[in-house]
Amino acid sequence: MSIDFKKFSGTGMTSDSSREKLILILKGEGIKNSKVLRSMQLIPRHIFVDEAISSKAYDNTALPIGKSQTISHPMIVAKMTEIIMAYEPRRVLEIGTGSGYQASILSLLVDKVYTIERIEYLHNKSKKIFQKIGIKNIYSKYADGNTGWPQKAPFDAIIITAGATHIPDVLLDQLSSNNGILVSPIESNGKQYLKSIVKSQDKYNEKIHGKVNFVPLLGGVS
Ligand code: SAM
Repeated sequence: MSIDFKKFSGTGMTSDSSREKLILILKGEGIKNSKVLRSMQLIPRHIFVDEAISSKAYDNTALPIGKSQTISHPMIVAKMTEIIMAYEPRRVLEIGTGSGYQASILSLLVDKVYTIERIEYLHNKSKKIFQKIGIKNIYSKYADGNTGWPQKAPFDAIIITAGATHIPDVLLDQLSSNNGILVSPIESNGKQYLKSIVKSQDKYNEKIHGKVNFVPLLGGVS
């Protein structure tokens, strides 16, 4: 994919040097995958948020994107991406497009990204940003992600970017049986943890990767 990223070099707090500082923070917090770090350096996070808060885009923090939703904390985006990239996925499904930032990071790393958003306003807005950047391997859908995208299954990886109380079986069914990986925040006793599940034939291998704090995975569309 040839994208002219220089077009998106910002100034001041959104400049390339602010982005480089963020990459150093991510490295300091333990992100090691150089391809993930490169993708986070290239994708201009400031264009996924309103201009009024774009000076905060390279802070290591979640930010509002409207409709009571957030663009995730860069460290969490990096961590979830690094977890799935260890399995070298080529086709990834994301539940919770939000701003489109996580999908854009993935688009530089895998062949195809399928992403589902339940809020029409965010679905439309993120689609425009994908076009603006010139990303052509993201396929997005306005729907309730709890049912996945059966027509495009199986997926090598599934990322859920909203806090679920449980992983819907239908999503596990859409995961490749050949080391397909799903990563999601999971709520338990009022706390949220990042969980990964690797599917190998009919066996599931689960792992917890620490505490997180995501907006909830809801049902239906809005
Ligand atoms: N990945 C996003 C990004 O890069 O900006 C951040 C996602 S935000 C933390 C969570 C998103 O999940 C919100 O946009 C929310 O509307 C969406 N969401 C929640 N439940 C959903 C569902 N059942 N299906 C699809 N999207 C859902």
